Amino acid sequence: MKRNRGNLKSGKLLMWKLCGIYTLAIVIPGLILCLIAIRAAKHEDAFLEKQLETTFSAELTQSVYGVELLLNQIRTELDSTVPQNGESGDALALWDSSAALVDVPFLFKRTGSFLRPDVKRVSEKEREFLTFNTDFFMDRKMVEVYRSITEEYLDTILTARAKTQSMQKPDRKEAARKLAESEFEIDKDVQNRVYSDLKKRGKLIPYRNVVSGNKSSVKVEAYSPQLSTYVSESMRFSQIVAVASSGLIPRIIDEQFMLIYWKKRANGYITGCSIDIDQLAQRITGALPQMLTPVRFLTVLEQSGRPVFSGSSFTPKDWSRPFIAREISRLLPRWEAAVYLVNPEEISSRARMATLSLVTVAAVLFMIILTSGIVLLVSMYSEIRLARQKTTFVTNVSHELKTPLTSIRIFAELLKERRQPDPVKQERYLGIMLSEIERLTRLINNVLDFARMNKGTRKYNKKVCDCVELCRELVENQRVRLEHNRFVLETVYEQGPLVVNVDPEAIKQALLNVLSNAEKYSSSEKWIKVSVTSRRPYLTITIEDRGIGIDQAQSEFIFKEFFRVDDSLTARVQGTGLGLTITRQILDDHGGEIRYQRNEPSGSIFLITLPLYMESYRGE
Ligand code: ADP
Repeated sequence: MKRNRGNLKSGKLLMWKLCGIYTLAIVIPGLILCLIAIRAAKHEDAFLEKQLETTFSAELTQSVYGVELLLNQIRTELDSTVPQNGESGDALALWDSSAALVDVPFLFKRTGSFLRPDVKRVSEKEREFLTFNTDFFMDRKMVEVYRSITEEYLDTILTARAKTQSMQKPDRKEAARKLAESEFEIDKDVQNRVYSDLKKRGKLIPYRNVVSGNKSSVKVEAYSPQLSTYVSESMRFSQIVAVASSGLIPRIIDEQFMLIYWKKRANGYITGCSIDIDQLAQRITGALPQMLTPVRFLTVLEQSGRPVFSGSSFTPKDWSRPFIAREISRLLPRWEAAVYLVNPEEISSRARMATLSLVTVAAVLFMIILTSGIVLLVSMYSEIRLARQKTTFVTNVSHELKTPLTSIRIFAELLKERRQPDPVKQERYLGIMLSEIERLTRLINNVLDFARMNKGTRKYNKKVCDCVELCRELVENQRVRLEHNRFVLETVYEQGPLVVNVDPEAIKQALLNVLSNAEKYSSSEKWIKVSVTSRRPYLTITIEDRGIGIDQAQSEFIFKEFFRVDDSLTARVQGTGLGLTITRQILDDHGGEIRYQRNEPSGSIFLITLPLYMESYRGE
């Protein structure tokens, strides 16, 4: 009894253990992996954009570098072509006609005024030039001169870098500038420090006219106007020309851009020109990489945020919202090199697709892990359970054999020692012994038949016989013993014969299994009823008891091999869990069946049906 309870407990414990191992080793790691994969996939668009940003950023750096080279080249070009004396005007006119970049050539006397263009005979564009520039050239108006923040703060930036990254400042000025530029671009702290310092010093930092970083992974509201990386300072013309021999001065007047080239001459004159912006735009176009690719459009925006050259079939939704952009040069203030995505939605749709497929794969994998784990768990559990049942089976069988054997021995000894002189009682003892022998035979047969059943080698000796008689004989053989054990045994038989074609021994074995259970699983009310009825083409043998009954949920398993109901009342009784399995097999083999029903108010009813032998009633 203790062993049975122990089995139940250890069975449950085993199930919990397996579930625990399964959850810890498979479900939790699987879930974590899936969640990591899904989280990673959620940032797919940001990842794709970052990749593109890196590629385009390299292109932009290249373009900005190209434009800067071009501006230097323009300056050298003009340095070498500018006429040495322009007083007569012919040399300037020749320069104007021969150098495409020259828009309005001028000659300025540093102490006075413009000698050229000649105020008396000016063209439209010359008048415009003079209107815009006379006050400035004569130091009556200042001009905004731009300096790159990274140049201005080169030391601050590089010291900050050296502090955080324990690095040496590069020796070459150009390399240091490049390093400071990239440091300023990526490090928000450095930016904030520099900008606040500039503000403290009263410097003016203009806003850029584009908001770069138009990404699908960032919400539109998250963008705020961006500060320029060039700081402006007002200077007079005389201050500018004092420090160099030639140069370029950018001016923005009423949103109009003008680039002025100047060169000092020995006699106190300054010769130069305003640069033809269309020519400049053309030269810049030539310095840029291919503008339109299937993925992006690269262009240069002028001071008002419009592209300097039209002519491409591509137009973005908003010029002021490029994917990325970079300011070009202090000589082209507010000009930006900008990249636009040809199909911005493609990134999010590609990211969505990637996320979707990853989530699907993760979900499918997780389902596979889950189901295969469950299948594995269930089969492992049933294998282990079966193995345990098989080991306890042998012990159970020997225990079950002991009860009838002890009973037989007691009565045999009583008879042998002739301690019971009453012949009626002697007869009863013999009856009990016979019925115990029948139970013993049934038990041994159960074990043997189970082995044969598994191999599929069980053979039946079928005979045509009266089932009522067969039942009566079996029940009456058991009656003496049952009544001796204080059972009330009721029987109801239909008027026979009810002819069946069966192996009588096998059917007896099946009936005895059920009858024995009614006896074994009895409660305080020891009552058993056996009835035989028929309804062509079947007869039904009903065996009822008022014992402990079977829980509805468990009742569907009682015909399974080795199954024993999992409760303390059953655990009190010895059993192998084979009786009903064999009974059902025997009935199956005879074209019959066995069913369980709950008895009200308590106990069980087993209904056994067998086909009547057709020949016995065909003629009726
Ligand atoms: P066992 O050798 O354990 O009796 P069986 O195959 O005959 O094996 O029965 C399987 C299980 O069904 C039993 O262990 C018991 O729990 C339950 N059972 C069978 N018959 C009865 C009954 N008449 N009353 C209550 N429980 C029963």
